[in-house]
Amino acid sequence: MMKRIAVTLKPYHREPFAYQKLKICRNCRHFTVLGEQNCMSCGKTGALQNVEKKAAGIVRSDQWLTGLIWLLLILVGLIFSSSALQTVLLIAAAAAAAALLWTLQKRFTPALRRIQLQKMFQQYGYELASGLAIDHQAAIRVFQEGDKPRTYEMLREIGSLVHNDQLKLEQIMLLQTFQLRKDMDLMIEPLLMDSFNPDLVSYIGEIAKIRRDLIKKNTFRYVLQHEMHILNMPSGEAILASVAGAAVRKSRYMTMYPYLLIRYARLLPKDRFLRLYKFAKSVRSGPLYDEVMRLYEEKYKWDPEFQNI
Ligand SMILES: [Zn+2]
Repeated sequence: MMKRIAVTLKPYHREPFAYQKLKICRNCRHFTVLGEQNCMSCGKTGALQNVEKKAAGIVRSDQWLTGLIWLLLILVGLIFSSSALQTVLLIAAAAAAAALLWTLQKRFTPALRRIQLQKMFQQYGYELASGLAIDHQAAIRVFQEGDKPRTYEMLREIGSLVHNDQLKLEQIMLLQTFQLRKDMDLMIEPLLMDSFNPDLVSYIGEIAKIRRDLIKKNTFRYVLQHEMHILNMPSGEAILASVAGAAVRKSRYMTMYPYLLIRYARLLPKDRFLRLYKFAKSVRSGPLYDEVMRLYEEKYKWDPEFQNI
């Protein structure tokens, strides 16, 4: 096994929607998710603009145009008005219309921006895909230059929009070369694949030890789906025990995955088993209860920590 390197990873900034990290070049319409200063396609400085801002800008200029057309119509009306009364009426009508237009625009602007954004993605679908491919190439270049943490950070950003196994695997392989620590901004669910992958499983095993809170429903499902394959791995059983140890974190998970716990309860460290024991006591019956009580009798019957529960 290769020696793992100590690294510092930048925290991952999460947005409610993945596309919110996308930027577009004002000059050449190159898309990127990497948050660079200069456009990687045309090299222009400061030309990258957040896609939401871009969409808002387009909507705003459309609205200005509408306003301008209204103003022109009113001016034409004023030129052709033949009496003072007509002028006054025209101005009053124009003011009312302007107020209405302003209210409508204000009310519908958020929806208009969303529609504009969708239009942009449809219109520039090809540019978007090729932009993300260029981002990926940039990450590979950084890897070849030897900066693994930065490569991982770049792949992580691209992975928020591109969901393919290749990209996930590249991230996992890099993570496997780092000394993983509790305080790192790690993730697991975005890296899950459909098929069995031993590197992914090893990574899950590590996370189950240092960041149990990251092991959630999808990870449990993945592990259970590929349990037989995992058992064939050299440290497979230990990994499954760590995952079972993570399930003990919440009573919801203990209710959802009783068979995972039944199969690996005997391998749980004492603190984990104690939690499981308390839960089983509260449930009072069923196959999980039977197995936990059997193990309790076998291993912890005389343990003071298990008394008074
Ligand atoms: Zn550009």
